[in-house]
Amino acid sequence: MRTSFKAALEKTLEGITPAREDLVTLLEATDPEEMNTLFSTADATRQRYVGNEVHFRGIIEFSNHCLQNCLYCGLRRDNKKLRRYRMTPEQIMKACDQAATAGFKTIVLQSGEDTNYSADTLADLIWRIKGKHDLAITLSLGEKQVGFYQCLREAGADRYLIKHETKDPELFARLRPGTSLEKRLDCIKELKKQGFEVGSGNMVGLPGQSLDVLAQDILLMRELDIDMAGVGPFIPSEHTPLKNSSQGDLYLTLKAVALTRLALPWCNIPATTALGTIDNRGRAMALGCGANVIMPNITPPELRRHYQIYPGKESLFDGQENLSALVQGMGRKVSSGKGSALENRLNYRTQIRKEGVSIVF
Ligand code: SF4
Repeated sequence: MRTSFKAALEKTLEGITPAREDLVTLLEATDPEEMNTLFSTADATRQRYVGNEVHFRGIIEFSNHCLQNCLYCGLRRDNKKLRRYRMTPEQIMKACDQAATAGFKTIVLQSGEDTNYSADTLADLIWRIKGKHDLAITLSLGEKQVGFYQCLREAGADRYLIKHETKDPELFARLRPGTSLEKRLDCIKELKKQGFEVGSGNMVGLPGQSLDVLAQDILLMRELDIDMAGVGPFIPSEHTPLKNSSQGDLYLTLKAVALTRLALPWCNIPATTALGTIDNRGRAMALGCGANVIMPNITPPELRRHYQIYPGKESLFDGQENLSALVQGMGRKVSSGKGSALENRLNYRTQIRKEGVSIVF
């Protein structure tokens, strides 16, 4: 007999690795009352283990060139309609200066897989940023060689975002031609070994994805013991082979966010830009079901609209005042710290000791 929603939720809250079939049962829930129960349970878990603060991470999308050809992404190399740009190190530095002045404690330097920036160029930039500002630096540059990551880590980079995208190796290979899930996971493990805080994540609603694969995504993130988990809906992008596919569902994505919080209570989880793009309440809803991070786009406005991974994100209103009002309106507080994963893990361990829970994972 199939486990009920209530039994699946109770088992998932036990602290041990959740069972795949229980996660599927919870992802299947469509009854509003059950979904609300799941969301409020995830919200309480977030509150208990990582607190009330929301961390703002300013994203600088410094190059939209990419040598890969992912079927879902507007930056893919075969998209000849996209106006390509690269920011110079000086332009990136200026954006970092503005971020520091605006009060950001973390900046995210993001690009397509662009070989134009050498490890030395980026390392030099990281040294300069670190020398001038008290900022945590997160990188999101895709798959690189071991030595490349090492050079950036030694220069002072703190964190690295590299989503596994989907746990299904065949779907992965189909959507990301010329690459493999295995190699992606090797990158994640290597980054962890080098001491980066590592963020992974997936897309919800990819063509050909089942709920079982979504459950496996969550379990994979737990197995990898990642520090940040970005869960966002698939959004079809024009000028890509998937332009006519259906968009990922808002509520299914929120359920995946909530379950990610339950499975990885210590994790930093963003209310993703993609959720805000498919629904203007999306980011607030994610903050209400487990998320504790917002990533405002601080790319120079004249370039922002060309970073078209998917359409519509450039029209999100990412002003800090607006986002601070959103956070405060929910009774939460904008963090004045860097919101490191280490802090989260310490809080988590302290809390479970207080609660007398014996399982530490
Ligand atoms: S998803 Fe990443 S690697 Fe793939 S085309 Fe887009 S920017 Fe390039």
